[in-house]
Amino acid sequence: MAEGTKTTLLLNGEIWQDGSLIKAGVKIVDGKIDEIITDQHLPAEATTVIDVAGKMILPGGVDIHAHIQDGAETFYYGTCSSLKGGITTVLDMPPFKTVTNEIQCKKRIEWGKKEAVADFGLIGGILIDLEDLENLNEIKECGVHLFKIFMLSCPSMELLWKSVQFAARTGMRLVVHMEEPTLLNTVDWNDPLGFVKANPPSAENVAVAHLLEMARSAGAPIHVCHVSSARTAELIDTYKGWGVDVTAETAPHYLLLNENEFYSQPDRVVVTPALRTAEDNRVLWQALEDGVIDAIISDHFLGALPVSSSVRRSAQDAEPGIAGLEVTLPLLYDRGVRAGNISLKRLIETISSKPAALAKIDYRKGKIAEKMDADLLVFDPRESWTVKTLGKNSRISTLPYEGWQLEGRIEKTLVRGKVVWDGKNILCEPGWGDYIPADNKNSKK
Ligand SMILES: [Zn+2]
Repeated sequence: MAEGTKTTLLLNGEIWQDGSLIKAGVKIVDGKIDEIITDQHLPAEATTVIDVAGKMILPGGVDIHAHIQDGAETFYYGTCSSLKGGITTVLDMPPFKTVTNEIQCKKRIEWGKKEAVADFGLIGGILIDLEDLENLNEIKECGVHLFKIFMLSCPSMELLWKSVQFAARTGMRLVVHMEEPTLLNTVDWNDPLGFVKANPPSAENVAVAHLLEMARSAGAPIHVCHVSSARTAELIDTYKGWGVDVTAETAPHYLLLNENEFYSQPDRVVVTPALRTAEDNRVLWQALEDGVIDAIISDHFLGALPVSSSVRRSAQDAEPGIAGLEVTLPLLYDRGVRAGNISLKRLIETISSKPAALAKIDYRKGKIAEKMDADLLVFDPRESWTVKTLGKNSRISTLPYEGWQLEGRIEKTLVRGKVVWDGKNILCEPGWGDYIPADNKNSKK
């Protein structure tokens, strides 16, 4: 063993390998996976040995849609949430006009490198003016591969079309919050379902049809943010069938919650797109399983710092957004895999390997294999627990899942071989998180 080399062994676990769990160990050297140990021989030398008998070893999650330096959230606390939830790499969704050129991009990378505890990447944008496109090619050189438009703040068809053409030209994937503003209505706050009715699925469906046709015409790679409705999944499926390079994501709240939540906890479910029906939930689970939807994301957003869970508001006064990084993976394991809505294989593909590929960071992330970063979860599939605040600065008291009973818990989270969450505490300092640039070398110029 070379001097200064740090070797960690995880022994006796069930390790996710190429689509199934196998009994094995993992040898980690200097933050990288060095060997998957399937026979009985044990390397003689190891700085740290962790017995993980009875536990699953899963690849760390990659969340490509989380607002971690936006609203009341910060790189530090946002990435603390992600480690608690087994998300080892998080792509920061920027506020408007903050990642549109090299100077802005570098500033944000430095900011993240000082504060983050999980590894992170950036999404470009959010574009709202034509001038935001002028120097956008610079962000590709900084390692950004995805860039975003939020249609509710997109002033013109021209910006949409030019952005689609930019995606076609550069190979960078255009990520769009798809809702056509013309189809939204004023909310009647006296009606418990007023918010849902004012934000109908048709606004999403019309926008998606429009954008997909633009992407088809231009030959552009495009990504549908947080699919909420069954009809949207049908459209994506159809366009995928026609060979359009469309990918899509959804969030736990579109799978696990529906509009009925507005009768019991309206202040915790004000999100756009709005929650839909139980039938939409069912179709989206199927779309995830079938590969129509590619990624699970949290769309973590914290509009204001959490207050005591006993303080409740009306929907009208609610902070919009759901800060779900801490629980996305365990929720999807319990209500998805255990409940028979999705296979473990698809859960891991959609929460780790495919989002890593979409962000072009799959040269280091999203898979348990030799030479990859040792971003690993020690997951106890049998431990029962109740969703409640996970220690200091937890965001769970704002969540619609507070109080849910789940089976399956993240016991430890490792980032580049270091245990950074032990089920109780964050064990690294701000700045442990590193910036992970996209491998843009092979995409078009
Ligand atoms: Zn978002």
